[in-house]
Amino acid sequence: MKTALKVVETLEKGGFEAYIVGGAVRDLLLGKTPHDIDVATNAAPQQVKSFFSRTIDTGIAHGTVLVMLDGEGTEVTTFRTEGTYSDKRRPDTVKFVQSLEEDLKRRDFTINAMALDKTQAIIDPFGGRADLEKRLIRAVGNPEERFQEDALRMLRAVRFSGQLDFQIDRETLLSIQKESEGIRSIAVERLKNELDKIMVQGHTARSMSYLKESGLTGHLPAGPLFETDWSFYEATGQPAGGWAYMLYRGNAGFKAIQAYKFSNEERKLIEQALIAAGLGQWDDWTYYIFSAEQLEIAAILARKKVDIAGRKAALPIQTKSDLAVNGANLMEWSGKKQGPWLKKWIEALEQNIVYGKLENDKESIKDWFINEHHSDA
Ligand code: ATP
Ligand code: MG
Repeated sequence: MKTALKVVETLEKGGFEAYIVGGAVRDLLLGKTPHDIDVATNAAPQQVKSFFSRTIDTGIAHGTVLVMLDGEGTEVTTFRTEGTYSDKRRPDTVKFVQSLEEDLKRRDFTINAMALDKTQAIIDPFGGRADLEKRLIRAVGNPEERFQEDALRMLRAVRFSGQLDFQIDRETLLSIQKESEGIRSIAVERLKNELDKIMVQGHTARSMSYLKESGLTGHLPAGPLFETDWSFYEATGQPAGGWAYMLYRGNAGFKAIQAYKFSNEERKLIEQALIAAGLGQWDDWTYYIFSAEQLEIAAILARKKVDIAGRKAALPIQTKSDLAVNGANLMEWSGKKQGPWLKKWIEALEQNIVYGKLENDKESIKDWFINEHHSDA
């Protein structure tokens, strides 16, 4: 906050207007710490750059310069109107504008369309403060037109409802119902980004009930899966938890949601959590082979009350590398060369140790191996 105010002051001293805008103003008024602070100014990007020794051209084509000051980054954006339109008729270019008010007008919701000046006075042309008090998400201007311009805003309304635990204003909600089909024009990456945010917040169930009520689920990939009962869901900070939850409840596999282009890492987390959730009883081997992250999600899906960290810590080994022997030892003791047999024996060894049937020391393992291997051969 201090740094952003310094940026504002510097631009003001240089003869320009500058304000803190958007989500940061909303969060400050709600008594929350904003996670990033945006500044809007009438200075052009090149002018902004001339005032600061360290800047990064993060989004210069859209009028945004990242100013590095006191080890913090503040995004400074020249007053502009929205650059992207989902109807694809208009070019993906930015139009710079002269006044703060024009800049605020292009923003999605009244609570996101306020500004703070250097004296910390609030500029609020659309009644954002009153809506914050009423805990309402309301579109700036004519909601239908705003959703026609950019259909993603409909999903953002749903996302903010859960993020803030707010209601969506009646007229705004009616307009989403009318325009819901427009969500089909939005790139899947942008959809996933908003849906991920819905799944990591505290009030996922509220967002999900709006997602259904608004009709958006009728036009989203895997739409019906979102319509499950979310009241048992607990956000873990991992969006994968939400995706796994809806698959588990809908009795569907990963394929059902693959249109959202998950990373391999996220896909694995979801799939492993589903497997773990499907296991009846969890024993030491379960705690050994699944990661804490996978089990944390699985426990929510299967509604298990378990002490994952405690059970994991109590295991005699955490990974293969904790074994007192290695593949070379087994090859030496058996006189055999490397091959698929080795993997099988290492796993058997891990299992015996994890289940407490065998001590993790070289001598005990050697005795066990020679004995078992001999009777196996
Ligand atoms: P968060 O706490 O999730 O970061 P935010 O309000 O900062 O919330 P951002 O997505 O970071 O949300 O966007 C910053 C600001 O830019 C918003 O507060 C809003 O004023 C404006 N904005 C972002 N996306 C849109 C959009 N699609 N249409 C109109 N205005 C938008
Ligand atoms: Mg933000």
